[in-house]
Amino acid sequence: MICLGIEGTAHTFGIGILSEDGKVLANAKKVYSPQEGFGIKPVEAAEHHKKFSEDVLNEALERAKIKLSDVDLIAFSQGPGLPPCLSVTLKKAIEIAKRIKKPIVGVNHCIAHLEIGRLICKCSDPVMLYVSGGNTQVIAFSEGKYRVFGETLDITIGNLLDCFARAANLPFPGGPKIEELAKRGTKYIQLPYRVKGMDVSFTGILTLLEKKLKENKIEDLCYSLQETTFAMLVEVSERAIAHLRKNELLLTGGVAANKRLQEMCEVMCRERGAGFYVVPHEYAGDCGANIAWTGILAKNNSTRNFGKIKIKPKWRTDDVSVDWR
Ligand code: AMP
Ligand code: MG
Repeated sequence: MICLGIEGTAHTFGIGILSEDGKVLANAKKVYSPQEGFGIKPVEAAEHHKKFSEDVLNEALERAKIKLSDVDLIAFSQGPGLPPCLSVTLKKAIEIAKRIKKPIVGVNHCIAHLEIGRLICKCSDPVMLYVSGGNTQVIAFSEGKYRVFGETLDITIGNLLDCFARAANLPFPGGPKIEELAKRGTKYIQLPYRVKGMDVSFTGILTLLEKKLKENKIEDLCYSLQETTFAMLVEVSERAIAHLRKNELLLTGGVAANKRLQEMCEVMCRERGAGFYVVPHEYAGDCGANIAWTGILAKNNSTRNFGKIKIKPKWRTDDVSVDWR
């Protein structure tokens, strides 16, 4: 079986093609980037996806060296995400499915991140720390479902990095530059460490950092930002591992590229005797390969009743019925 997966929940429009044995045949994508200094505009992003969808499809087919008629199943990111983007993605999925007379399966975006991580990193039952521009969550499989054990109460970690970078006149996206500057930080500046139960909160840190911009070295602020927020994320991840009696941590999302975050996760896992896995960059961000692979796993939920399929902008992770585990 060959599955073609379409990602389109936010800034990325991606098409991945995988075979049933987990081989990635293609993972093509085109990323919408908002005008400098502005956040993502949902309608603009949707227009971007519409404009490039056929190009991305052709690129994926070319790389996979297959014809569209070789595809057996179409998977698409049904949610959670921005409604205009999800609508374009669903429409494209239906259009392709009708062209080749094949069924469609809707996939949960967050679960797709976890499933591609399990496939690529060869781990079995991890707690996932998912840190990106759009999400900050700790997810794990428990009692028959994927559940969110911790998350941000306000902005995401990616948001915090990008907003602080903008305030400090650093280039977008902020994460890589902040990481570089943090290496030269020497003084720890006290920031509010906000862990509430299993959740984290970042807005207080952002406000304080912006206030401290004038009278502190940017290197020290970046260093303190990373040390504080990453410690918070590692703390809730560790607690999830302990409570759930798991022994693997999977780090993914755009922020997973950060070497200091990786190091802190690694130390925590080593001290507990747990395995630590970082999803490689190509698959850590939003992409079609995630969706295609999860589509293969969820193939029992596929349908040809196209008129009944709806987007799910607020689809909760624990609302997904998981029959493949
Ligand atoms: P995503 O939403 O998964 O595409 O991830 C985008 C986010 O990852 C943005 O907020 C970036 O600032 C952040 N990011 C990218 N590279 C790094 C890095 N090296 N360290 C920290 N954050 C990063
Ligand atoms: Mg994502």
